[in-house]
Amino acid sequence: HTTVELASVTKHYSHGVTALDNVTIGFHHGTFTAVMGPSGSGKSTLLQCAAGLDKPTSGHVVVDGRDLTRLSERKLTLLRRDRIGFVFQSFNLLPSLTAAQNVALPLRLAGRLPDPELVEQSLASVGLADRAAHRPAELSGGQQQRVAIARALVTRPAVLFGDEPTGALDTNTSRDVLRLLRSLVDKQAQTVVMVTHDPAAAAYADRVLFLADGRVCGELADPTPEAVA
Ligand code: ADP
Ligand code: ADP
Repeated sequence: HTTVELASVTKHYSHGVTALDNVTIGFHHGTFTAVMGPSGSGKSTLLQCAAGLDKPTSGHVVVDGRDLTRLSERKLTLLRRDRIGFVFQSFNLLPSLTAAQNVALPLRLAGRLPDPELVEQSLASVGLADRAAHRPAELSGGQQQRVAIARALVTRPAVLFGDEPTGALDTNTSRDVLRLLRSLVDKQAQTVVMVTHDPAAAAYADRVLFLADGRVCGELADPTPEAVA
């Protein structure tokens, strides 16, 4: 089924900028999609609208069966917290907390007891069970991004969004993170949608969407780095 659906989504910013122009697109359960396109083509806006971090000017966004554009602020906050994971280029870990404490944060924010088993499972799923007590400064960039992914997944969200999740990593580390995302899709049927500039990264996805001027201008299934470039 379709985990995330955008229907006729348009986003205008002030000064007449149309960041998204009538975009209709679905992201199916257990698939990995890469979103590519030139700077300013609307990739971040698409991700922000799909994740309920920004509101479209018109159109609908349905995540996990619920229309984000019709939810109250309170219900939207809850849905975002419990059903949507997001990772950024810059990891955004809290430096004073250990890896395990960072991963436990979403559970704490949800008013849940940070079940140590759940935190451990989440860290294990990104291959960092042995780094639970380390602080971000004691981890490599790739390890920090894997902690951020474990944190995003600890609530078992319906979808994981990544805005250039490998943008700050070198080629080898980047590949490790992409393999991890690929394995989450293959082994746990995690739905993943990531914005990237890197054809080699996009090739890990099942599908690449190309944006230009706020519109979907192309699509490629089972991409290879050569075909994407
Ligand atoms: P991309 O991620 O592909 O670089 P964005 O979604 O960031 O594209 O931006 C799409 C367009 O919307 C660009 O023209 C950008 O300048 C504009 N834009 C993005 N965010 C804002 C904002 N907060 N206010 C005004 N214009 C914005
Ligand atoms: P394995 O080690 O099990 O062969 P990989 O981690 O090498 O798996 O690959 C996982 C997925 O990423 C596969 O779908 C593969 O086609 C794709 N992939 C692997 N290496 C690259 C690459 N350099 N560029 C693009 N896609 C790749």
